[in-house]
Amino acid sequence: MPQRATKIVATLGPASNTPEMLEAMIRAGVNVVRLNFSHGKAQDHIDRAEMVREAAQRAGREVGIMADLQGPKIRVGKFAEGKVMLEPGQPFVLDASRSALGDIQGVGLDYKELPRDVKAGDTLLLNDGLIVLTVDKVIGPAVHTTVKMGGELSNNKGINKQGGGLTAPALTAKDMEDIKTAMSLKADYVAVSFPKNATDMELARQLCNMAGESMGHRPALIAKIERAEAIPELANILKVSDGIMVARGDLAVEVGNATVPGLQKHMIKLARQMDKVVITATQMMESMIVNPVPTRAEVSDVANAVLDGTDAVMLSAETAAGKYPLETVMEMANICHEAEKTDYDPLEDDFVGAHFTRIDQAIAMGALFTAHHLKAKAIVALTESGSTALWMSRHSVRMPIYAVTSSLSAQRKMTLYRNVRPLFMDTSADRDTALADVEAHLKSRGIVQTGDLYAITVGEPMGQPGGTNTLKLCRAS
Ligand code: PGA
Ligand code: MN
Repeated sequence: MPQRATKIVATLGPASNTPEMLEAMIRAGVNVVRLNFSHGKAQDHIDRAEMVREAAQRAGREVGIMADLQGPKIRVGKFAEGKVMLEPGQPFVLDASRSALGDIQGVGLDYKELPRDVKAGDTLLLNDGLIVLTVDKVIGPAVHTTVKMGGELSNNKGINKQGGGLTAPALTAKDMEDIKTAMSLKADYVAVSFPKNATDMELARQLCNMAGESMGHRPALIAKIERAEAIPELANILKVSDGIMVARGDLAVEVGNATVPGLQKHMIKLARQMDKVVITATQMMESMIVNPVPTRAEVSDVANAVLDGTDAVMLSAETAAGKYPLETVMEMANICHEAEKTDYDPLEDDFVGAHFTRIDQAIAMGALFTAHHLKAKAIVALTESGSTALWMSRHSVRMPIYAVTSSLSAQRKMTLYRNVRPLFMDTSADRDTALADVEAHLKSRGIVQTGDLYAITVGEPMGQPGGTNTLKLCRAS
């Protein structure tokens, strides 16, 4: 398998739920597996997480696990016949008090607050924007609308309001229970759906820390940017999160399709500047749900996300429910690899202007700068928490960063970092032994050969998080 810097997140589902398929997908390049908490029971997720860990072990590679919380269910209720066909111009009533099943005149609401959140003139988008309703008036619990763009509307389809403004809290009672499950299966990442601001993320952090405390487990938190309100709050959200997801599915419905590509570039850039990770998600290889090859547009989309500097690209239904989960991962890995090879690199050398105030950051940047100019074969970071590797990976250098850690949880978190290859190694011995072990490892893997130059950062004394203070340039013996 070629060396690849950009990471792949794959969503688990009926199409990928077997030990064999998972192992094959991990061998083909999946770095992080996403468990979608919108489907399935607690025990299902626990069993699946175990299946992922076992498959990773067989494949000989560590993978991260991301628990993706469902978030508020802003959805219509159910229909007597499962669905209706809406025609443009017809009236349709969304009624929070309706207990009868829906019909062609209207439907109940899972989201009871909708009548309070909307007013005449608002545009509602159902089923990912395929159906458009204009609000005519709100009478008590009933939202009277006219269908602007029709189509089939089936049970429990999602509702978005154009421009944002739905008041649903980001963390529901179900999410709070699911966080406990996520901690018990030691999810490396927890993704929070529909956060509006930093406060939502801080609450998620508190809940994770409380639930993980007894197990000594602290997950990294990803804010899914999928609400219009989150855009002006982006920097504040980033500050209190470990990373973001460019959640293009819901975001496009709220802010308009055409706004998303620009926002994607902005989000990736800001995340990198703030030393956070970023995942680009949704419909990246959509046509491969049914076809064995991607469209040209999808190839370009994945490649452009790589050139934007994303840490990871994500697969949703392609691997969860598609016909070609394995082929999709292989195609995606190949597209990333080719995009990374291109001469066009808008990010190159950006670290020259980087600002830093901490000693460990200065060492990390020093390693990048030096390795870049001396054309080293590799950069190695001996890191307890993974921070050194994270700082290094926020910049584009065309050499791999090997992050050596004796913390399994740090190793698993680093599976998401662009251009970082996390390695688990017992580094508790003295410094010289650790350095010799690292070199032996690099040589045994063919990463460096006798005479090759590599840069390595360590902390003295060893084993203290945040203690990196030494840069050593080595020629492999
Ligand atoms: P979802 O989030 O797949 O959980 O809806 C991603 C998105 O909205 O793009
Ligand atoms: Mn979403």
